[in-house]
Amino acid sequence: MPKMRYYIWTIGCQMNIADSRRLASALERLGHAPAPRAEDADIVVLNTCVVRQQAEDKVYGRLSSLKPLKSRRPEPVVALMGCLVGNRDPAPLQKRFPWVDLFMPPSDPAPLLDYLAERGLVDEDRALAAREDGRRYGIQDGFLLPRAERGRLVSAYIPILLGCSHACTYCVIPYRRGPERSRPAAEIVAEARALAAQGVREITLLGQIVDRYGEDRVAGSGLRLVGLLEQLHEIEGLVRIRFLTSHPNWMNDDLLRAVARLDKVCEHIEVPVQAGDDEVLARMRRGYTADDYRRLVARIREIVPSVSIATDIIVGFPGESEEQFQHTYDLLAELRLDKAHIARYSPRPQTVAARHYPDDVPAEEKERRRKLLDDLQAGIVAAINSRLLGQRVEVLVEGKRKGRWWGRTRTDRLVFFTAAQDLTGQLVPVRVTWSGPWSLVGEVE
Ligand code: SAH
Repeated sequence: MPKMRYYIWTIGCQMNIADSRRLASALERLGHAPAPRAEDADIVVLNTCVVRQQAEDKVYGRLSSLKPLKSRRPEPVVALMGCLVGNRDPAPLQKRFPWVDLFMPPSDPAPLLDYLAERGLVDEDRALAAREDGRRYGIQDGFLLPRAERGRLVSAYIPILLGCSHACTYCVIPYRRGPERSRPAAEIVAEARALAAQGVREITLLGQIVDRYGEDRVAGSGLRLVGLLEQLHEIEGLVRIRFLTSHPNWMNDDLLRAVARLDKVCEHIEVPVQAGDDEVLARMRRGYTADDYRRLVARIREIVPSVSIATDIIVGFPGESEEQFQHTYDLLAELRLDKAHIARYSPRPQTVAARHYPDDVPAEEKERRRKLLDDLQAGIVAAINSRLLGQRVEVLVEGKRKGRWWGRTRTDRLVFFTAAQDLTGQLVPVRVTWSGPWSLVGEVE
């Protein structure tokens, strides 16, 4: 079997990062090795995102840059993976990008493994085993991290819920990642154990509506998120557990109490509001009002003291008036959340919004609204972080960047500090000496 070199380019959400890592793991199990650049690789994979037009445009740019690779001899295999492909017929993409050899839906490395097997580029038995893993989306025994990350990766993502069945009117994800499916708890626990055995200290459980974990199964037939967290909590070696993204309607007291009760589960909740105006929320089909969200934030803070809360917001949704935008602005100012990711609306193919609501907020106006919210939030976070000055925070060290160690607090704040010894993977007490909106700097206690 010829040994090949692979290169994977990833854009988009945490789920894509997890999918790419899994593909890399499968390729290495087949005996292949990573290449530093696409130009040096025999297998080139683009793992794509189309959640907004901006991401999609980046993918097209990168795709075009790969075209010249195909004039090389021997030609590399070029594969397109992720949400640009989705679960759709790839024929139109094939026509537009004839230099792409194969198209893979999100979270499924099987098509590439099949392709390599058909061409005699992998050993048949090993390919079969890897394909089986791909179908189950879970590597039961011994999920092996790519070699370069073994013993080095501190924080890893574990997808626990694939797809989404909610269909917010702006969102393309349900059309590309298919309906919601919970992975079996036993598989997730096995994966977490395997990761811990390879040095991983923190896991982040992923799902589009992660607080719905298990709800897609027939009642009573499996664990819900609380039960899963309890099982994962028992795993030796893991020191922190996170989960994202939650939907307000599925976040309940049971789950919040589990966050408060279970030591390893971090006090950090990512729960997007998307808008602060009830009419906009209704047209987004989010299923709650601004007041519902207010009450939820109060409840989260009541049950989980010292919690940090992150949110996502879309500005310039079709029909969003100045007044409606102001409601979002006021809500964000009132709630003083710990993080907000602000996105300008872009129409996505197939979605209800793209088909029925004209994209009528001009680009400059979207940008103006985005900036207003960004500035507001930067001020809020700067004030929140400045209260940490002189305090001691616990940092899980993930690595070194520009000569300084970096890691995050339980509440997901980025912290930099200097130290002589390698502290990667350790929980380190750090006294905060400087604070800004995006990070903290401190000294080891
Ligand atoms: N499932 C999560 C995250 C979905 S995608 C949720 O419940 O919201 C991540 C973020 O991208 C979303 O929270 C939303 O703020 C943003 N987003 C999704 N579709 C978008 C679109 N068409 N235009 C702009 N932003 C969008």
